[in-house]
Amino acid sequence: FKVPVIDNEPMKNYGPGSAERQALQAAVDKMLKSAPFEVPCIVNGKEIKTGDIQSQPMPHDHSKNLATYHAATPEVVASAIEGALAARQTWEELPWADKAAIFLKTADLIAGKYRYEIMAATMLGQGKNAWQAEIDAAAELCDFLRFSVKYVEDLYQQQPPRNSTGVWNRVEFRPLEGFVLAVTPFNFTAIGGNLVGAPAIVGNVVVWKPSPMATYANYITHKIFLEAGMPPSVIQFVPGNPPEVVKQCIDHKDFSGLHFTGSTHVFRQLWKNIAGNLDVYRGYPRIVGETGGKNFHLYHPTADVKSGVVQAIRAAFEYSGQKCSALSRCYVPASLWKNGFKDTLIEETEKITIGPCTSWDHFTGPVINKPAFDKITGIITKAKEQGDEVIAGGSWDESTGYFIKPTVIVTKDPKALTMTTEIFGPVLTVYVYEDSEFEAMPKLIDSTTDYALTGSIFAQDRYALQYVAHHLRNSAGNFYINDKCTGAVVGQQPFGGARASGTNDKSGSMSIFNRFVSMRSIKENF
Ligand code: GLU
Repeated sequence: FKVPVIDNEPMKNYGPGSAERQALQAAVDKMLKSAPFEVPCIVNGKEIKTGDIQSQPMPHDHSKNLATYHAATPEVVASAIEGALAARQTWEELPWADKAAIFLKTADLIAGKYRYEIMAATMLGQGKNAWQAEIDAAAELCDFLRFSVKYVEDLYQQQPPRNSTGVWNRVEFRPLEGFVLAVTPFNFTAIGGNLVGAPAIVGNVVVWKPSPMATYANYITHKIFLEAGMPPSVIQFVPGNPPEVVKQCIDHKDFSGLHFTGSTHVFRQLWKNIAGNLDVYRGYPRIVGETGGKNFHLYHPTADVKSGVVQAIRAAFEYSGQKCSALSRCYVPASLWKNGFKDTLIEETEKITIGPCTSWDHFTGPVINKPAFDKITGIITKAKEQGDEVIAGGSWDESTGYFIKPTVIVTKDPKALTMTTEIFGPVLTVYVYEDSEFEAMPKLIDSTTDYALTGSIFAQDRYALQYVAHHLRNSAGNFYINDKCTGAVVGQQPFGGARASGTNDKSGSMSIFNRFVSMRSIKENF
């Protein structure tokens, strides 16, 4: 059979008075009225309430919980692993067409029946406005699921190109032995779905440890998988104390893969723990992770100022800078800075309205929680103490939600704290260079951090574009020319970083599926 033609999920625009705006508003109102929701663990398709209750507050109004969840106990994690392992063979043996159908149906349910519910959960629980929720929980989540069907279909076609007379050479793409652990982040509901979906579609069983801050949207995703026909034990949903759940999984002898998005620090720690356990396992677990970034825009003197500023603002401040890909350092030539870049950047940044994600009037909303709020505001304060200048924003208020105004800092030190530390918040630092230093910028950018996730060059000059693309070839897994450094689209720009930013296995592309299969090469003589 051939899988249907796959395309990106069309995005809705939620204009004033539109039917989709009304429908989303109704879903948000309904959710607000019924919150907090009680989220159980789901093991072998059964809801388990452990009684160890944790909460998922709403970042725009932290006095209210969107959900409370039952943290998994060691017994629940153990039975999740056991149940997944018991389901492994049946799942592997389910024909590819049936697996594909489950994924396509899950996507259709998200795009249709559950679109507004999962968006509302993402807005209220993770602090996204409607458009950011649409990009994530509707469009990208569907894209991940549907394109994974296409990529796996293509993967299975990749057979050895040569046979000789009387010989048939072929390969099988088998799931890993054991189970995969998916550790998923708060910032994209779509990434949660993909970190469990990518290993599962090639026949793996998966234990899902969601971020405490995205529990409710991830729970909805899990229920939709089940409604679409996912066998109950293939993906086990175990919210809980992150280090404890993760440790128990990684210490298990049948642990065979980690699919992770989160901080560089945690990923390194997990890698070391896995390495320390090698004698416990039968094989070498696959370790796939996307971690931090310190993403850049470099402007050449020929760059267009107006669009350059708009792209910087979008990349730095949409979703309050809480994308791994978000822009955090800008290199601007003195000529552009003086001739409009600085003034437009200040003016446009100050215009940004910030407020609850339940309102349609705000460009951006809160940061996710108190530790994030404290970390980000602490960095702004420290930057000021160290002599950097705050030219826009620089204020905050946590009385109801965790609101930090989009902040622009100018530094004279290209290795300043805000040029080197991942902030994961609405803070953009600018370093102004002399036009004559342009050719030295790639080296400076490259040597400033070990991250290599996203970056952009803005120029009209072809030589400059070529020069930078070449000299920054190792500095960004996703490199953009005259475009912002956020917003990779599944099926269009495979996403992922190198160096300290991750294993560069590229979500939204074929390469991720290779990491979760084990090939068997078969030679048959006739
Ligand atoms: N894929 C997203 C983008 O290109 C970012 C994903 C992330 O934050 O991990 O903006």
